[in-house]
Amino acid sequence: MLARDPGLADAVAARTADGEGPVDALHGAVEHWCERLAALGGTLAERQTDLRDVFQRAAARLLGVAPPGIPPLAEPSVLLADDLAPADTAGLDPALVLGLVTERGGPTSHTAIIAGQLGIPAVVGAAGALAASPARIALDGTTGETLLDPDDDAAAELVRRAERRRALAGTAQGPGSTRDGHRVAVLANIGGADDARRAVAAGVEGAGLLRTELCFVDRVAAPTVDEQAELYRRVLAELDGRTAVVRVLDAGADKPLAFADPGPQENPALGVRGVRLLRERPELLEAQLAALARARAATGAELRVMAPMVATAEEAEWFVARCRAAGLPSAGAMIEVPAAALRAAEVLAGCDFASIGTNDLAQYLFAADRAEGRLAPLLDGWQPALWQLVDAAVRGAGDVPVGICGEAVGDPLLACVAVGAGVGSVSVSVGRVGLVRAALARHDLATCRRMLAAVLGASSPERAREAVGELADPEIAALAG
Ligand code: PEP
Ligand code: MG
Repeated sequence: MLARDPGLADAVAARTADGEGPVDALHGAVEHWCERLAALGGTLAERQTDLRDVFQRAAARLLGVAPPGIPPLAEPSVLLADDLAPADTAGLDPALVLGLVTERGGPTSHTAIIAGQLGIPAVVGAAGALAASPARIALDGTTGETLLDPDDDAAAELVRRAERRRALAGTAQGPGSTRDGHRVAVLANIGGADDARRAVAAGVEGAGLLRTELCFVDRVAAPTVDEQAELYRRVLAELDGRTAVVRVLDAGADKPLAFADPGPQENPALGVRGVRLLRERPELLEAQLAALARARAATGAELRVMAPMVATAEEAEWFVARCRAAGLPSAGAMIEVPAAALRAAEVLAGCDFASIGTNDLAQYLFAADRAEGRLAPLLDGWQPALWQLVDAAVRGAGDVPVGICGEAVGDPLLACVAVGAGVGSVSVSVGRVGLVRAALARHDLATCRRMLAAVLGASSPERAREAVGELADPEIAALAG
């Protein structure tokens, strides 16, 4: 939108008419607008970065050179950046990017989530890391520890810790269950067929969340039914008969899609997004459901389809009816809006299953933007209020099967807490699968229930962590982060 702004085009035209060369004219016009944005302050001032990014891309095109972006990596490296767009993160090669450190963003922002899906250890919100311009970085993606120019001993300690985690993760194989044999499916959050392949290699029982919007972040036009059917068919084929929970497009706010743009909104996270947007643009949902039905028919997969950002029973009913009409037998809702969690019995009455999204549930419960690194403590997965709401939702759901697919349960001890609350599956980043399975295998159901009670009885996230740590297997507690 910034690039297409007629005001910018007019300013460039005026400057070229005055004899300036195209790159100079563009630069002058962009800087002029940047000054005006800076004077306005706040969110508008932040748009200067975007406008300068437009300049760099357009200038690269004019000069016939490669556009700026992530530099090509010649050898395996740690990537250090101010921030990364979801589309940039999705393009990272896990063989070359050994780790990722960004100055901005929160632990449940989409940059962090996509890195997790790729299995890339990532630390976000590491303010000041760029200015230090380190020659070497050591990072622990589980605890968020980042060491700039560490000495050999300090770096070796992080490597040892990673090895201990790997060894521990290898101790539990096969379907997930608690020590006393209570079954809990351990699933993976994925963004496409490649992620599905990695997840299967990690031994998951299926995908608990395919974020379909991540397949289309770089698309200008809506993908056709044929194209989508082929994409979903490949994902289902990789999963090879395992559970496949697919979420229809969750466009808007932190996951903008050019072809599903709700238009300018003062407060996109509280605006028309997720299922609200699909109701305004039913053709998007119809195409997606038709494609999913085709992929299911082609693979015979156990496919479950769910809607994002459901807030009311009426929205859930609408979505389930659309799925049934498309011939999809299993339809569910994400519980990630506090209203839906509180009214789970009504919201889920016609649903076949539900999945609790702790990322957005926390964002809306604490009125704290998940992409705002400075508010990360409010979004700590150990917040007792978050678990009070999860507990209420699971109770409200009654016999409707409920899983959790938010980042919180990537913490192996919080996966145990979730089991204590009564969920039947946890879906996590592929890198977390092993440790989560190992943690479940070391605790019985009664201990998991005591862990939940400890969290609910705690007055802060720190106290909750401490209380659960006392109930937990010491080795898991030491490596959980
Ligand atoms: C969530 O909100 O917890 C969730 C799983 O969905 P997303 O992170 O894609 O918003
Ligand atoms: Mg969400």
